[in-house]
Amino acid sequence: MTMTFDSVNPATGEVVGSHPKQSADTVHEAVGRAEEAAAWWGGLGHAERRRRLLDYKAVLTQHLKELAGLVHQETGKPVGDATLEVVLAITHLDWAARNAHKVLGRRRVSTGMIGLNLAATLEYLPLGVVGVIGPWNYPVFTPMGSIAYALAAGNAVVFKPSELTPGIGVRLAELFRESVPEHEVFQTVTGLGETGAALAADPRVRKVAFTGSTATAKRVMAACAENLTPIVAECGGKDAFIVDADADLAAAADACLWGALSNAGQTCVGVERVYVVDAVYESFMRELSERVTKVRAGEDYGPITMPGQVDVIKRHIDDATKSGRTVAGGPASVRAPYVDPVIVEDVPEDSPAVREETFGPTITVRRTRDAAEALELANASAYGLGGTVFSRNARRATELARRMRSGMTAINSVISFAGVPALPFGGIGDSGFGRIHGADGLREFARPKAISRQRFAMPGMNLTSFTRGPAELERLIRLVTFLHGRRKS
Ligand code: NDP
Repeated sequence: MTMTFDSVNPATGEVVGSHPKQSADTVHEAVGRAEEAAAWWGGLGHAERRRRLLDYKAVLTQHLKELAGLVHQETGKPVGDATLEVVLAITHLDWAARNAHKVLGRRRVSTGMIGLNLAATLEYLPLGVVGVIGPWNYPVFTPMGSIAYALAAGNAVVFKPSELTPGIGVRLAELFRESVPEHEVFQTVTGLGETGAALAADPRVRKVAFTGSTATAKRVMAACAENLTPIVAECGGKDAFIVDADADLAAAADACLWGALSNAGQTCVGVERVYVVDAVYESFMRELSERVTKVRAGEDYGPITMPGQVDVIKRHIDDATKSGRTVAGGPASVRAPYVDPVIVEDVPEDSPAVREETFGPTITVRRTRDAAEALELANASAYGLGGTVFSRNARRATELARRMRSGMTAINSVISFAGVPALPFGGIGDSGFGRIHGADGLREFARPKAISRQRFAMPGMNLTSFTRGPAELERLIRLVTFLHGRRKS
């Protein structure tokens, strides 16, 4: 008998759906079907895959309202935010489908002088079966960042959604069948952590794309190590928001609040730490504290989706308000499943509220001497996912962004990089490694295949033969000296 589990609307406690806790055996069967499907899908070629994926995109778009409704029910986030999330996922699917051939298709590469008699080609071939282990905070956008790119690269996908959002995961795979009915190219398996563990441990899975906590990423990586299965890991962050002296403060405050509070702060690239240069500190704080009074938990953003997260948020708020100065909210802001906005200033940099991922609608704000100090503090984090810089000087802002220790930085906007499909998304340090989205995201789910073909024998230069003599070596030395032996300075 298959055991089931319920997905629950965190805002109302209502059961949204019941789903099987799929056993390791069921997962392995799914991977077996995926292997067959991968052979077929991989053999279809880029043009046909593009056609099918663009059709899937149209199907998702036709079901936009239904999908957003389901995300709303399972996560509690407002329908508007859920709609935005699905739209973003659709734009990524579109980009991946349209660009896979250009990025991954076979091309000639230069062979260089020594390889003059060769023709060289490079292409990126599918890996086979890709296992995607997804989170609950953006249950369409985030996994689709792996699923769409993996499918476009010619792989089959077995997707394990978070146990908090299984329904939307099941629906995404169901709708895929409208565009690709022949084989099980994209399947969803439901269950708890063990179901994900079984997927990661299956040796026929050629790559695992994981999104979630750093701690679980390490467990998944350990399971993958058994089979030398590579993984791409997106493990959240502690993103910094820098306000420089010449920033548009009204725009910065507006963006900062949205970046911190939207989706109740349950965003891997959400704003968690704010560093404001001394010259504009008071003015910025005025803008921020005026605006925050107008943002309401339960109206502008939804509940905390994962019940256990409330304790983490509470611990961080209690700690921050004890050591820092409260600007908005406080310990009483936690009224589960909702948490009202909390802003605390001057929280010590070594406290949990500044070091650990909070994943709630809270920020810490610190005054810094200048932008250089802001950057130094921003970079002093174990995480390194995204970040923001506000400054009217584009050159200066770009320089700060380049030096920010993160995978992505937005300037004069928050998380705008996530909506640009051509930009790779992923972090460094505790935020993980590997990239989804963009050309790098396509290559993440493919293996380079290099081919060199000899077009003609090079007279007197057969270097890879036991017939090679001293004259050939002499010619090689002359050639290499001519090509590489001159010093420029
Ligand atoms: P987890 O890292 O525990 O879960 C992420 C995914 O991994 C889920 O699908 C989960 O399944 C699955 N999983 C859990 N255990 C295993 C395992 N041993 N092997 C394979 N897969 C497994 O995150 P949580 O959802 O528990 O959230 C905890 C914290 O992670 C949050 O507080 C937040 O800080 C961070 N987080 C970061 C996200 C990001 O965007 N980077 C997204 C979500 C969370 P199941 O849900 O069934 O347990």
